[in-house]
Amino acid sequence: METHIFKSPPVKIGFSDASMVSRATKSDQTLVNVKGVEIGGPEVVIFAGPCAVESQEQLYETARSVKADGAKILRGGAFKPRTSPYKFQGLGEEGLKLLGLISMKTGLPVVTEVMDTRQVEKVSEFADILQIGSRNMHNYPLLKEAGLLRKPILLKRGMMATIEEFLLAAEYILNQGNEQVILCERGIRTFETSTRNTLDLSAVPMLKHLSHLPVIVDPSHGTGLRWMVPAMAKAAVAAGADGLIIEVHYKPEEALCDGQQSLTLFEFGQLVKDLRKVARAVDREIS
Ligand code: PEP
Ligand code: MN
Repeated sequence: METHIFKSPPVKIGFSDASMVSRATKSDQTLVNVKGVEIGGPEVVIFAGPCAVESQEQLYETARSVKADGAKILRGGAFKPRTSPYKFQGLGEEGLKLLGLISMKTGLPVVTEVMDTRQVEKVSEFADILQIGSRNMHNYPLLKEAGLLRKPILLKRGMMATIEEFLLAAEYILNQGNEQVILCERGIRTFETSTRNTLDLSAVPMLKHLSHLPVIVDPSHGTGLRWMVPAMAKAAVAAGADGLIIEVHYKPEEALCDGQQSLTLFEFGQLVKDLRKVARAVDREIS
């Protein structure tokens, strides 16, 4: 006879009030603390940095500038999930080391993507938050491995995932004992082609209604267009997002990945000033 070992709460088909991610199970908002930076509290936390780590100069110049403007977490991919195998795949381990170095120099905690269970140990050595990207939201072995860690996980919504599938992916992580999960809306595939993705901002109030986990928004991958990032970032804060993750590059025209959607250092600084006003209007803050 085939036996199945289920963790509690018992497995149900679909998301339900009994799920660990559900607000019905835990009414208190989950606060994810990353080296003193609290995600899910009154502050709207800004994550910023390049799409990919390219060099020490690129990462340092970008990091110190976004920090001065108000970013609290540095982003940067070392292992990049690229649509084409012929495009820049990231610096790999060298990229992780640069993240560690620049994190130490600036004091900014770092988030970086892990794409494979075999990378989890190495990436955990350098990352303060491990990112599971859109393409891997359905990678159940990776979700389970992330659940065994005692480090925060930034889980991005699959580009074709429903809210229910997204929450059940998060459930895989909580179910293994790791409750430090941050959800990220990053745009979904629709019939629309004028933007890279359709940023589903209705996901923000819906996720916050259904779950106690913090919710952040990625307006960079959500639109794919630099000029549109500020409008959608402001809209995300107005919709109740607990944070934003924004691609910023010190020389976007030379970026090896996603330059067309990356803000310049100047544009990022201007945007944070506007975001502070929006945050205040919805009783939040950006320090
Ligand atoms: C990223 O944030 O680096 C990324 C690849 O995003 P996504 O997984 O949302 O496409
Ligand atoms: Mn990118």
